[in-house]
Amino acid sequence: MSSEKPTIPAASNFIRGIIDRDLAQGTNASRHWAGSPGDATHQATGAPDPAKIRTRFPPEPNGYLHIGHAKSICLNFGLARDYAGVCHLRFDDTNPEKEEQEYVDSIIEMVKWLGFGWDAFGKSHLYYASNYFDFMYRAAEALINAGLAFVDQQSADEMRITRGTLTEAGKNSPWRDRSIVENLQLFHEMREGKHADGSMVLRAKIDMASPNINMRDPAIYRIKRAHHHNTGDTWCIYPMYTYAHPVEDALEQITHSICTLEFEDQRPFYDWVLERLAEPPTEAVGANKQALLAHPLPKQYEFARLNLTYVVLSKRKLIQLVEDKHVSGWDDPRLPTLAGARRRGYTPEGFRMFADRIGVSKADSWIEYTILEDCMREVLNEASERRIAVLDPIKLVIDNYTDNKTEDCFAPNHPQKPELGKRVVPLTKELWIEREDFEETPPKGFFRLVPDGMVRLRYGYVVKCTSFEKDAAGKVTTVHCEYLPDTKSGTPGADAIKVKGNIHWVSAQHAYAAEVRLYDRLFKEAHPGSGDNDFLDDLNPNSVKLITAQLEPSLKGAKPAETFQFERHGYFVADRKDSVADKPVFNRTVTLRDAWQK
Ligand code: ATP
Ligand code: MG
Repeated sequence: MSSEKPTIPAASNFIRGIIDRDLAQGTNASRHWAGSPGDATHQATGAPDPAKIRTRFPPEPNGYLHIGHAKSICLNFGLARDYAGVCHLRFDDTNPEKEEQEYVDSIIEMVKWLGFGWDAFGKSHLYYASNYFDFMYRAAEALINAGLAFVDQQSADEMRITRGTLTEAGKNSPWRDRSIVENLQLFHEMREGKHADGSMVLRAKIDMASPNINMRDPAIYRIKRAHHHNTGDTWCIYPMYTYAHPVEDALEQITHSICTLEFEDQRPFYDWVLERLAEPPTEAVGANKQALLAHPLPKQYEFARLNLTYVVLSKRKLIQLVEDKHVSGWDDPRLPTLAGARRRGYTPEGFRMFADRIGVSKADSWIEYTILEDCMREVLNEASERRIAVLDPIKLVIDNYTDNKTEDCFAPNHPQKPELGKRVVPLTKELWIEREDFEETPPKGFFRLVPDGMVRLRYGYVVKCTSFEKDAAGKVTTVHCEYLPDTKSGTPGADAIKVKGNIHWVSAQHAYAAEVRLYDRLFKEAHPGSGDNDFLDDLNPNSVKLITAQLEPSLKGAKPAETFQFERHGYFVADRKDSVADKPVFNRTVTLRDAWQK
């Protein structure tokens, strides 16, 4: 073991700093909220917003949430909670092709599981961006009316070429100077389905020479004949994400729109869209004279996304793992999806602790997986009752113990919580013990059972090894012992005989033989797929081991999702999917100590 401990970055609170400043200055105090998302006219009919801040978590319902999303969820919902605000759960479903109800349901379930909700001030704040399509269309018309958007008929290739490069300015589209009237007409025709997919796009008219490529007349609407899960076939044009997102935030009166760093270069366009829509129209063609949006406008802030060692957090790679059957499904306990982590036995408290501990920063970095595991250990240590499990059983026979006798031993349910009491574990002549607790030729410092040696059976008696048996292959099958009758734990004089070792055991007659899945990391490399490697080459071939373990009888009654510490082994959870009444199956959540430290 090296002395190098993974460093835990200090929890930076630069976003909290921004919110503190905004609250002190009253930046967002003049906002009104009419009880639902809407434009400036709508919001003006409402009272001053009772929410001090509004944040949002905006997943695209095209996949399952993963541990990276947990960071964003804890951040956004956590800020709303701490600042007397509200966090909206918004499905960013403006892309018609990839979205499904199954993902919507699972996202709702997992955000709730993490301990957060969107009911506040007497209202639910669960929203769908696709409900804003009408407004987005109206806002695009307003941009056209203001001379700030035009219909471009260049091909995709032409547009790519004329966009320029990082070092070279782009070129204006030949269609850039169409009249407002013509642009409006074409945009209406796009909507009416008069033009083929891809034959034209609506583009913002900004600056083809901008050093920021995102400001070089970005597309805001495209033609796409695709069925949408919410709006059906109502639309054949769909807004681009970079245009839709600021509009969604504004309609929902979001104060602090927090996203990951890759959107930093999009911030100027985010502001451009909102500021233009907040300007009163000058020459409104058939529209009213009101600005569509009101100040103060939402502001975007970026933080570093979570990169975690030994896992992949890209939707594309996760899909590949599932579709190519490297795992059993989206909730495979080895996957970094939240559904998988929950099944593995990871807890919401552990995720919230993790999010607090890693903090929020502006600098991209890798977080050690052990930090997450340590959080889970900390929470599970506190929350889980202790139980006894023999994972790799061999027999121990107490030759001088009465046949057919059963004696009660008492094991505390939680060493730090005596109030949780003790439970009975039955002791009999034949027990299961751990194979690794007996050594024929012990290495130096081995204090457990050895020929002629003595050890304490935890919560029971001191026993002395008298002999052992092996099978044809030379593997030990049975250890014979004699017990010392005056040494039972908890009785006077039990400690008269001092022994160094203390091993766990289960009565063979009473044991529950259970399926236990010993999960380990899915990848053997800290940075799967780094260098020229295919990430699949870095899969850990031993990421799961199925065993039949001998468990103390009380574990037969474990309820699905109940967690335990199996003494000396780690934390285990009764699998929520495969456990049936009186026949729970257990998953190893995490070992007691980090086995991966070199
Ligand atoms: P896609 O590639 O499909 O956009 P995504 O992981 O960004 O995938 P979204 O559904 O768009 O998925 O994500 C919802 C929110 O979760 C976004 O606001 C995004 O910033 C945040 N998020 C996603 N991955 C991470 C991550 N690794 N760390 C922190 N936040 C993340
Ligand atoms: Mg995204």
